[in-house]
Amino acid sequence: MKVLGIESTAHTFGVSIIDNKKVLSNHKAVYTTEQGGMIPYEVSEHHYDNFMRIIKESLKKAGISLSEIELISFSQSPGIGNTLRVGAVVARSLAVNLNIPIIGVNHCIAHLEIGNMVFPECKDPVLLYVSGANTQIIAFEANRYRIFGETLDMGVGNFIDSFARYIGLGFPGGPKIEKLASQSKNYIKIPYCVKGMDVNFGGILTNLKQKYKKKTYKTEDLCYSLQETIFAMLTEVSERAMAHCSKNELLLGGGVACNKRLQEMCEIMCKQRGAKLYVPENQFLVDNPAMIAWLGFIKYRSGIRQKIEDTKIQPYLRTDEVEVIWR
Ligand code: AMP
Ligand code: MG
Repeated sequence: MKVLGIESTAHTFGVSIIDNKKVLSNHKAVYTTEQGGMIPYEVSEHHYDNFMRIIKESLKKAGISLSEIELISFSQSPGIGNTLRVGAVVARSLAVNLNIPIIGVNHCIAHLEIGNMVFPECKDPVLLYVSGANTQIIAFEANRYRIFGETLDMGVGNFIDSFARYIGLGFPGGPKIEKLASQSKNYIKIPYCVKGMDVNFGGILTNLKQKYKKKTYKTEDLCYSLQETIFAMLTEVSERAMAHCSKNELLLGGGVACNKRLQEMCEIMCKQRGAKLYVPENQFLVDNPAMIAWLGFIKYRSGIRQKIEDTKIQPYLRTDEVEVIWR
């Protein structure tokens, strides 16, 4: 079955074509800035400006025509209202005009489900989902994807980007911070914030900003200490979730999971527990339309159907509110 998936929860407008398990194209336009962060209406303008081009280029890469598409899938939740709406309107227009079914999916769950597409042996993992807006430790228990731990304030990516912005780096800040961190091995003590199974970053951000303002610390040392601290926090709660759920697979998802030091810490932890770490390639870690197409496909394959009236965006829908009837 040929599926066209659309991602538009935040900075990325992407269109992917898959044919069952085969990813024919995974194409996107990503909003970035030299300085400053994301302003919702500017990001949605970016998506409006790019959606037609991305659809055309994605079809061309896949080598198929629009009339061959059999299902439209799109991110319906959660995300920035302005940007979600662009994807939803494009998805509805395509489905109605082509007279084909439409399925809306939850973006966070798509990050988890793509793991099984890429690694068929990865069947029941704990997902450490670390992106710009989201930080959640998710696992399937008692018929739902449950959140076993999460951020109590901002997403880890937003935290990294906020500090990056403060020290004059553009968006996204993660790769730039990673590069600076790799130039140091000098750990400076900053707060370590794990509250039960949850984490928070606001206090760490304030502390880092104060240290940066003093001008007595090297920027590289601050970036190194930032990474060592927050990745240890995330590895700690992931390990506890694995122990609690008796699961021996850890899957990474989200843009922050591209970070080599986070991958290394998770690898060490998994090895010590006799568990297996799964890290999809970067194109499937970051926000991508292939995971949206894939989740739409497996929902449809399981018999789920959706009316156009039920395709309204759900910007605040939580992972554990989704009824999982496709597994
Ligand atoms: P996503 O929302 O999943 O597309 O992820 C975007 C977030 O990932 C942004 O906050 C980026 O700064 C962050 N990010 C991307 N690459 C890296 C990296 N190598 N290290 C840390 N964070 C990263
Ligand atoms: Mg994401």
